[in-house]
Amino acid sequence: MSTQPASADLDAIGPDAPIFDPEAFRLTDEQAAIMATARRLGRTVFAGRAAAYDREAKFPSENYKDLHASGLLGIAIPKTHGGLGADYRTYAMTAAEIGRYCGATALTWNMHVCSTLWSGPLADDLDMDVATRAEHERRRAIHYRRIVDHGAIYSQPFSEGGAAAAGGVAFGTEAKPVKGGWIVNGKKIFASLSGHADYYGVLCTELAEGDKASRRNTLYLALPAKAEGVSVVGGWDPLGMRGTVSRTLIFKDVFVAEDEALMPRGVYFKAASSWPHMFLTLSPTYVGLAQAAYDFTVRYLRGEVPGTPPVKRRMYPTKQIAVAQMQIKLEQIKAIWFQAVTEAGPNPTKEQVLRAYAAQYSAMEGANEIATLAIRTCGGQAMLKSLPLERIYRDSRCGSLMLPWTAELCLDRIGREALYEPGEKDE
Ligand SMILES: Cc1cc2nc3c(=O)[nH]c(=O)nc-3n(C[C@H](O)[C@H](O)[C@H](O)COP(=O)(O)OP(=O)(O)OC[C@H]3O[C@@H](n4cnc5c(N)ncnc54)[C@H](O)[C@@H]3O)c2cc1C
Repeated sequence: MSTQPASADLDAIGPDAPIFDPEAFRLTDEQAAIMATARRLGRTVFAGRAAAYDREAKFPSENYKDLHASGLLGIAIPKTHGGLGADYRTYAMTAAEIGRYCGATALTWNMHVCSTLWSGPLADDLDMDVATRAEHERRRAIHYRRIVDHGAIYSQPFSEGGAAAAGGVAFGTEAKPVKGGWIVNGKKIFASLSGHADYYGVLCTELAEGDKASRRNTLYLALPAKAEGVSVVGGWDPLGMRGTVSRTLIFKDVFVAEDEALMPRGVYFKAASSWPHMFLTLSPTYVGLAQAAYDFTVRYLRGEVPGTPPVKRRMYPTKQIAVAQMQIKLEQIKAIWFQAVTEAGPNPTKEQVLRAYAAQYSAMEGANEIATLAIRTCGGQAMLKSLPLERIYRDSRCGSLMLPWTAELCLDRIGREALYEPGEKDE
């Protein structure tokens, strides 16, 4: 079984057009070049490996070596620290290009990149006194060096199974301050990259003896995967996104040194309240999957998918209508999502926040709607496991479950925040 088109097949199809055409979307040459690197890597290398990662629920370690070699592992690390210095929007569009070829790589890469995006450009937008800023600058340089020089991989486990990851209550994972750092105890579920990341970027609550847990005291710490007291337990055999290997992490009296803080005290809470687009970064993967389902359908109906008989199905009006519906949906997703990632920044207006929720919802639900249409209209042979469409369908189904902005929570917030101003109550 193979889904890897031979290079002759790739040449015959020609290059994939960018999801966001640089001219049409007024992108800079630098942005276009970074996206082109990702697209080339995705198409010529990641696409061919994706089926095996999915089938075996195996982490895409080989892809991470390529991401390091191409500089993409440090995409959001400032240039002064040896990274590509991409801003939020450039990262997001690049992640969509990766998601087009391997959903699990794009999704896990997002967790990794967020550790640099949140401690980098996002933290730069937040108020800090001079001493705190200097200390943060010194610490983040340590993390960036590990990534740029040594290919270190960071993950982002914050889900615990309760209301904390949804932003409702303080994290149950606790960090007790001790000399030189913290002692961390707790458990994270659905922790993508478990057993494969070098550092787990854990959100936890700083809690000294007698303190009451508060979301204001959230810490964002990089726990070395090899630290004593860290263990990975349980299996990972899900519907889709199987290569994320999101097993459970247990922390038992893990000592974490002060320099492992990815953000200074109190800054994560500030970021979560004043830079909400930080939670939109799970969506690029699904914009890529939406594009992938559409691309596949057009090629399949034209009889151009490598490894399938050159049977044309494009002459049937019902198939043309399905493709039209998919194209309209895809353009709707791209339009709202591009606007939302363009306006990401500190202190957005209410309208911008509602648009960000709507963009997340549109990408997460829309990708699966397009994949569903693709399966229906391409027909039975198209959903065989020798082709990527059924994987795209399963991977795309997982998008709306991603906390803190699940599809349900987006609906919930849009409805409430559209109808109530802050503090407003009914009699
Ligand atoms: C492929 C994949 C990879 C993932 N990788 C990561 C990762 O790397 N790091 C990470 O932290 N998480 C990750 N997640 C986890 C994801 O974000 C969710 O936390 C996880 O799916 C939660 O599962 P659950 O059944 O506990 O969710 P739910 O029960 O849906 O939600 C958990 C809690 O959130 C609150 N909640 C949920 N829905 C509502 C609602 N409508 N209204 C009010 N409150 C609500 C409730 O308190 C609920 O108990 C991943 C998930 C998937 C599918």
